[in-house]
Amino acid sequence: MRTLLIENALVAGMRSADDLQPGGAVWAEDGVIRALGSQARAAAAAASLRGEPVEQVDAEGLWLFPGFVQTHIHLCQTLLRNGPDDLPLLPWLKTHVWPGEAAHDEETLFLSARLGLAELAAGGTTTILDMGTVRHTDAVFRAAEVSGLRVTSGNALMDDPSMNPPWLYAETDEALEEGERLFARWHGAGNGRLRFAWCPRFAVSCTDRILGEAASRARAQGVLIHTHASENRDEVDLVRARSGRANIEHLRDLGIAGRATVLAHVIHTNEDERRLLADDGTAVAHCPSSNLKLASGICPVPDYLARGIRVTLGADGAPCNDRLDPFSEMRHAALLQKIAAGPAALTAWQVVRMATAEGALALGLGDVCGTIEVGKRADLLLLDPSAGFARPISWRDDPYGPLVFSFDRGNVVETRVDGAVVFHRDRRPARALAPASDEIEAAARRLRERTVGERPPGCVTAP
Ligand SMILES: [Zn+2]
Repeated sequence: MRTLLIENALVAGMRSADDLQPGGAVWAEDGVIRALGSQARAAAAAASLRGEPVEQVDAEGLWLFPGFVQTHIHLCQTLLRNGPDDLPLLPWLKTHVWPGEAAHDEETLFLSARLGLAELAAGGTTTILDMGTVRHTDAVFRAAEVSGLRVTSGNALMDDPSMNPPWLYAETDEALEEGERLFARWHGAGNGRLRFAWCPRFAVSCTDRILGEAASRARAQGVLIHTHASENRDEVDLVRARSGRANIEHLRDLGIAGRATVLAHVIHTNEDERRLLADDGTAVAHCPSSNLKLASGICPVPDYLARGIRVTLGADGAPCNDRLDPFSEMRHAALLQKIAAGPAALTAWQVVRMATAEGALALGLGDVCGTIEVGKRADLLLLDPSAGFARPISWRDDPYGPLVFSFDRGNVVETRVDGAVVFHRDRRPARALAPASDEIEAAARRLRERTVGERPPGCVTAP
């Protein structure tokens, strides 16, 4: 049996704001938390007496949190980082992201996912919901398997020939068959860490038939359904022009709603749509850095929370951010609402909760991760308040404000999934290792050479 004792940390369990154990301890057996506090130390002492090897971590001066959960990521886009900076959503998709995704082969997609997963692990993220791309999504799952992170993904469904470029398009039955194949191959793989989700890209890219099929298949298989919704006003107008309905109502008409549904962004919503989100238990993946960079708008997070809508956090894809960094997302989430809704509209505690426990609940992983509790997996994040420039912390009695406003990825000591180290600041190689720089640049150059379509200013024009 693989056993682990982490002791002497400030343990922030994230079940409630006062769920804090100074000098706390966590005991895990085969990646599952079995005891906390004095019982954890007693379990470790008993194992040592029996002569069993115990991995012991003295975390004096460190903080232990549940690993971050990011509910909206595009691993396929990590190699598209540092693309055009100054475009709104639809032109940005058409000129950079879609041509870039279409240029992927298995090898470049695997590399893109490995790079993204390494960055996520280094920032303390242990669990993500990812939207794959139209083809080769096996490569995303293969990278996730190697990295050790907890990953839910699926092929992006884009089946409307009138709305999608011909080079990033899959006909309805072909796309559904690909989804079924990925479900059979990967759902539950990696000791349960890998899961499949149905991922229609957004209503604009999809026929009503595939939206409805994805929803009914997700329900029958007990898997998540994940899509973008109401990120941008032009998108909302397009959906209304085609369906005659508000976007959230249109998706709901086709079955995309409820507790196993995660909608990314959800910025431009009316009163009726908000009531439906609350009534159905549909979760929102708030991506504040992406919303800022694409000038999409400000998600009304405090209003959603007041209505009981579950709000979670995600970095979205690398080219609209350009980081996959939960510290950036937490900081932006908090700061945006101070301007939009007042200085006390969204507290640091609420933001950290969105980045951990609420994310896990939205992904149907409430029994698995998101808090530090007996019976959950040991998905853990060890932070050093002395690293970087986060000191002093003596003005605060709680760790949440520093985590949101002064910490960054430089404060991460180690990240564990199922009790196993996926990133450590001092020890190499960790499991979620980034590819070498020359390998990354060579793959990005290959994508640029293959890219077709009109390119925006600042980017290479395809031959
Ligand atoms: Zn996205």
